Amino acid sequence: MKISEKVGSKKLVEICNHCGKSVSFGSGLFVNRIPDFNDIYTRIANNLEYPEGDFVCIICDTIHDEIVDI
Ligand SMILES: [Zn+2]
Repeated sequence: MKISEKVGSKKLVEICNHCGKSVSFGSGLFVNRIPDFNDIYTRIANNLEYPEGDFVCIICDTIHDEIVDI
């Protein structure tokens, strides 16, 4: 995975960075998605499963203290 090439790009990655689910328009999670303003290195440091994602879905935002088993 070439993470470094994505840094600096303003194109948003419309997945939840906790569970990897799509939060793009029409996904059902679009409306309640929360933008994550951390950069990708911060997300990696936080051990997120999908650090390239620019959003957190409402499900993970609600239960972010728990391990999500998918
Ligand atoms: Zn999620």
